[in-house]
Amino acid sequence: LTTSPTRPGFHIIHIAAEMAPVAKVGGLGDVVTGLSKALQKKGHLVEIVLPKYDCLKYDCIGDLRALDVVVESYFDGQLFKNKVWVGTVEGLPVYFIEPHHPNKFFWRGQYYGESDDFKRFSFFSRAALELILQAGKKPDIIHCHDWQTAFVAPLYWDLYIHKGLNSAQICFTCHNFEYQGAAPASDLASCGLDVHQLNKPDRMQDNLARDRVNPVKGAIVFSNIVTTVSPTYAQEVCTAEGGRGLQTTLNSHSKKFVGILNGIDTDVWNPATDGFLKAQYNVDDLQGKLENKIAIRKQLGLLSDNAKQPLVSCITRLVPQKGVNLIRHAIHRTLELGGQFILLGSSPVSQIQREFESMANHFQSHPHIRLILKYDEALSHSIYAASDMFIIPSIFEPCGLTQMIAMRYGSVPITRQTGGLNDSVFDVDDDMVPVRFRNGFTFLTPDEQGVNSALDRAFNYYANNGESWQQLVQKDMTIDFSWDSSASQYEELYEKSVARARVVHRT
Ligand code: ADP
Repeated sequence: LTTSPTRPGFHIIHIAAEMAPVAKVGGLGDVVTGLSKALQKKGHLVEIVLPKYDCLKYDCIGDLRALDVVVESYFDGQLFKNKVWVGTVEGLPVYFIEPHHPNKFFWRGQYYGESDDFKRFSFFSRAALELILQAGKKPDIIHCHDWQTAFVAPLYWDLYIHKGLNSAQICFTCHNFEYQGAAPASDLASCGLDVHQLNKPDRMQDNLARDRVNPVKGAIVFSNIVTTVSPTYAQEVCTAEGGRGLQTTLNSHSKKFVGILNGIDTDVWNPATDGFLKAQYNVDDLQGKLENKIAIRKQLGLLSDNAKQPLVSCITRLVPQKGVNLIRHAIHRTLELGGQFILLGSSPVSQIQREFESMANHFQSHPHIRLILKYDEALSHSIYAASDMFIIPSIFEPCGLTQMIAMRYGSVPITRQTGGLNDSVFDVDDDMVPVRFRNGFTFLTPDEQGVNSALDRAFNYYANNGESWQQLVQKDMTIDFSWDSSASQYEELYEKSVARARVVHRT
């Protein structure tokens, strides 16, 4: 291990449970990679620490090698060895921690969903800090994400600062407040945190159950910077309806809390260079988009005698948050309106998966509907490219990436006005929004009438305003959803926080 070289920018270390494409479950993975690449491009030294899952996509890691060091980390009163690997993912240096614990923490064939998740990830959070300490790294920023690595914040201020790892400001980003990782307070002891000290209302005690600790709350209390992934969602989670018990904590720490809209990785999501597509295309030449529509219809066995028949799609995790009932309704409504619908999605909830499987069987050889119930990165690219419209009827949506990807591929979004959707999709008929920002169709009430009100208008617009529709498609394709401006906002927060720490240090 080497110490950090001296550079003009900041030294930023992300500690996370996901990173696209090597370990991606959802948007978190995309954000860690996209933000890191953008910060690296701005001249910062960016490193990432991940668990070494057995199910990593190893073919996406360059130069993977084991380091000649063993990092010891604490678990349930004992020290355990960790092997540390290093490799390159998307041009970024990544450390992978492989715990040598008999419970094989990251050798489970899946990323999450294990009964010992709380203990596995609190162990990992500590091992990551131990790695940084033992490597002699002096990061300016340690950036942790979601409940799995939220432990980093209390571990840093309660333990590691005293061990000599004291150069950093801690930034915590919560990508979804639905997942807080609360667990019985006693579980916290496994990673060496002091349960007695931390299970208090102003620290990590869960606001809804006094015998439980809440890692997300801990990170809000202990971090220097707390962010979430869109300005509207940041407001929503400060209310009783949206905060899931954390609104009071967020309100008392509101000075350090801010919502920054995610970007998308515009190198990965680029219809002009996308290797997954049948035909590449760009805003000045949309012929390729039509070819993709023809190709996907053929591939999925959909009727393709009418190039003008609108194709609506949806790519999503099938969880209640995403409005599964409204997705189901949108499929039927699209059929009534004379369109075609492709759903690509899978569900971690077995009942939802079963319901959609039975629907998929029902439509198995239907000429206009196809449900594909799996995770398929390649297919997702083809669907974004082929579609005319893309529907996201979420009940809540912290940021949402699919509306931005859809627009980049010229698929017009139809979305509910919530969270990050509200910050990125603006209705073509909304007089309150300047015309140049209007880019899709939105609805407010999360019910079937709401979906109809937007979907029907989209179909009408598509059928009756051919030229305007094409202009809308072109406008959507040129919107800048790159990480550039979002990364600048993070940079600014880092800068302010580091400057504040220097002042405090001097006084
Ligand atoms: P969330 O993080 O809540 O799942 P986001 O909209 O932030 O939702 O990110 C979803 C990401 O996962 C997008 O990149 C989307 O293309 C991808 N995705 C979701 N479901 C699938 C699927 N079944 N197959 C391929 N990609 C998927």
